[in-house]
Amino acid sequence: MGKIIVLGSANAVAGLEQENTHLLFTAGERVVLVDCGSSPIPRLRRLGVDPLRLTDLILTHFHPDHVAGAPLLLMDLWLLGRREPLHVYGLADVTDRLQAMMDLYNWKRWPDFYPVVFHVLPAEEMTPVVADAALSVWASPVRHLIPTVGLRVLFHASGKAAAYSCDTEPCPAVVGLASGAQLLLHESAGQQTGHSSPAQAGETARQAGVEALYLIHYDTTLEEAELTAAAAETFGKPVQLAKDFMEFEL
Ligand SMILES: [Zn+2]
Repeated sequence: MGKIIVLGSANAVAGLEQENTHLLFTAGERVVLVDCGSSPIPRLRRLGVDPLRLTDLILTHFHPDHVAGAPLLLMDLWLLGRREPLHVYGLADVTDRLQAMMDLYNWKRWPDFYPVVFHVLPAEEMTPVVADAALSVWASPVRHLIPTVGLRVLFHASGKAAAYSCDTEPCPAVVGLASGAQLLLHESAGQQTGHSSPAQAGETARQAGVEALYLIHYDTTLEEAELTAAAAETFGKPVQLAKDFMEFEL
């Protein structure tokens, strides 16, 4: 059985109980972390997921609320005794800058560091990211302030799919990623350049024909009903807020 676990659901300013948006896609042996704005280790442990089981890290774009925790994660896995490779995926500017960040910490001098394998994603629609017997993940460039990808994940045992818009204005790529999916996690940071309002998220979900829409990456100080009502109106069905530690079985 596949699962998407919400490790964080807040926009760039974390809430009292909500971390910056980051997710876990898990099925079989594969444990894929999507984004890393802060250390994910306490939350993984609270969920009973051994951090050493992480197989992959996908970084959607190089803004601090999505990558600032990556150096700490890489270091902590080393301190926890990791030996197996960790696969890290991102657009070229993301993988380059993460390596540059690690170079600032002189990581090449840290003894017995496990292999970190960088995979540069081309900025093309439906680029295969992870392809595994249990799950597959694809990325498409979306429309944010800097190069950014949204994701689609398919769980092979159930045939069920989900999409994560990441940070984006409404754009056809998100409709494509979410097309016919059981679940769309769509950002709703607000109607501004590079982001979407709840109403725009609802409209995208309607166009994609998804079964369920959960808003994510929202201002946690806003009223829940205000966010969901605007999205439900354009989606044409009830909408919920993604919250930290929510799990979706797919
Ligand atoms: Zn963000």
